[in-house]
Amino acid sequence: MAVTAVTVDVEADFASDSLRATDVWLPWLLDLFDEHAVQATFFVVGAVARRRPALPAALRARGHVVASHGQTHRPLTQLGAKELDLELRDSKAAIEDCAGAACTGFRAPFFAAPPHLYAALATAGYAWSSSMAPLSPISGPRLRRRQQAVTSVVEIPVPRLGRLPVPDGLSYRRLLWPVSRHVGAPSVFYLHPYELTSDPSDFALPAAWRPLMLVRSGSAARSILSDLLGDWQRDGAAFAALPHAAEPARVAAAI
Ligand SMILES: [Zn+2]
Repeated sequence: MAVTAVTVDVEADFASDSLRATDVWLPWLLDLFDEHAVQATFFVVGAVARRRPALPAALRARGHVVASHGQTHRPLTQLGAKELDLELRDSKAAIEDCAGAACTGFRAPFFAAPPHLYAALATAGYAWSSSMAPLSPISGPRLRRRQQAVTSVVEIPVPRLGRLPVPDGLSYRRLLWPVSRHVGAPSVFYLHPYELTSDPSDFALPAAWRPLMLVRSGSAARSILSDLLGDWQRDGAAFAALPHAAEPARVAAAI
């Protein structure tokens, strides 16, 4: 049976400091996941966990896995070795304090994973990562093999959306809707709670990006997500959390 890992990146609402859209739409998302028997993986920014300390434990109580999405959501490719180490350690501590359980998984913000990420993850005590995707700086299979050879950290990448060189997530499915509805369930899928809001007034979007980023957001995004989960469920997909949901070798072949 095909297994799909639905993953949610929990961060401030689109490049702002606001958590309003996330506060409003996370509960809706959790109910939708219950409806479709989705055990999801939430990559929570450490600073968000500190601002909403009850959130990681609440996600776990609903049956989901909680992992790290960095401490500040800065692109790791712009950080020195010491800053990178702090991002990994601070966020791990924040998630563990708030969730009351070990945090062993990681996703790089913007899928911007520097070549030395895996060694740094292993040193900081992580066991697995879902930081690579089409368009990410180290998505090439050769570089991936070289980086992973030196550590025990397992990488479970986000695959392509069909044959397109973009990651399979709600944002690109929305952009290419309804054509994207015909692409089957991916091994890993990602989305953000803020995509579900009909009120993007808090977003710190550059004007040039606005039309592209807001296409089919809000209620349209909610119905697209609900349609996709329903389609995949009918097609026999099982929804399970990372890292056990995915076979890394099989997923790697799809990227
Ligand atoms: Zn993110």
